[in-house]
Amino acid sequence: MRPPWWMEGVAFSCQDNCGRCCDEPGGIVYLSITDAERIAQAHDMNVESWLERDCRQTLDGRYILKSRPVDDVCIYLDEKKQCSIYSVRPQQCAAFPWWSENLATDRAWKETKESCPGLTAEDAIIIDGQNIRIHMFADRESTKGFRSWPPRNRR
Ligand code: SF4
Repeated sequence: MRPPWWMEGVAFSCQDNCGRCCDEPGGIVYLSITDAERIAQAHDMNVESWLERDCRQTLDGRYILKSRPVDDVCIYLDEKKQCSIYSVRPQQCAAFPWWSENLATDRAWKETKESCPGLTAEDAIIIDGQNIRIHMFADRESTKGFRSWPPRNRR
């Protein structure tokens, strides 16, 4: 089987003060088990209390971050359009733009390139295929998510 096109590496450099991938009304951030533990700890909270305060569950029960009622954007995006939990941000956020759905088809990748200036930036550097693969798997793990705490699907 031929390796996917992106295994040869893709040019990318996340741009300062951009935030376009977060500033999206209706965006959904699925959480992995380790995301919940890491972000709760950063807030000096136990996971149950943090889930109660900052998360909600989708119709099928997976935990996701809450959005602001006023504009339906992530509660952690501040007024300067920067992530207020950047150092502990969910792995799905860290994995952008290397989400399976973005890499799946030419059309999806074209739309991703149009929305993410980091993929056409002058200072972009080649991200190698193995790193892209790691991000893809992290995104998939987050999308599976968890539906209860303590989680039943801890490996
Ligand atoms: S849209 Fe791209 S360049 Fe902008 S913040 Fe997101 S990943 Fe970085």
